[in-house]
Amino acid sequence: MRYAVLSDVHGNLEALHAVLDDLEGRADAVLCLGDVVGYGASPSECIELLAARAERIVAGNHEHAVAGLLDLGWFNPYAGAAVEWTRARLDREARAWLGALPLTAEVEDATLVHASPVRPEEWDYLIDAEDGWGAFASFGTRLCFVGHSHLPGWWSLGSSGPDHEPRAVDFALEHGRRYIVNVGSVGQPRDRDTRAAYVVWNTEERTLSYRRVPYDVAGARAKIVASGLPRYLADRLGVGA
Ligand code: ZN
Repeated sequence: MRYAVLSDVHGNLEALHAVLDDLEGRADAVLCLGDVVGYGASPSECIELLAARAERIVAGNHEHAVAGLLDLGWFNPYAGAAVEWTRARLDREARAWLGALPLTAEVEDATLVHASPVRPEEWDYLIDAEDGWGAFASFGTRLCFVGHSHLPGWWSLGSSGPDHEPRAVDFALEHGRRYIVNVGSVGQPRDRDTRAAYVVWNTEERTLSYRRVPYDVAGARAKIVASGLPRYLADRLGVGA
């Protein structure tokens, strides 16, 4: 089985379309790690597409905020403005769908969680080596896929010692090792690469491959500006940060 694992689409329909085109023929199923909405100008279109295409979806902090499950005080002013903008544009059915997504899911020998497996509802960031290594006791599967930081990379633990790769570097699953994999962001990359990011997990070949996909950044930016969302949210797509 080949799974496309993607996260943090953030209402960026142009990036999502490019990723769904790219994974055609490369993946058999889609897994989504949350933050489908927020920041971008096309939240309902992204919800519809992923509700139809994704085999499993877990909730992100933006889903919880839009659904009224997370206080806006948690967010910086740009993110808070995007949450309010998004909430006003989704109907009751879409908001209820967001609020009903689970915090975690298991697919084969992988855990799916938006932020951290330690306390998923606290939305902690896994950034440095110790953050990741400290999270392995909190899930029982061999793999754990995360998003949230919008920074691709991975952590690994095994008898030959701990490992941390803070970049999008492909790897093969080694016997006796466990992995936490940040798949990066489809709709708002922050690693200075403007292309949409996702991962292909091949369970037969036992490999993890990062994909980067060019998309219509100018189109996504123009829609954000025209929609009345903060201009900063458009500008950051142009630098990937
Ligand atoms: Zn996010």
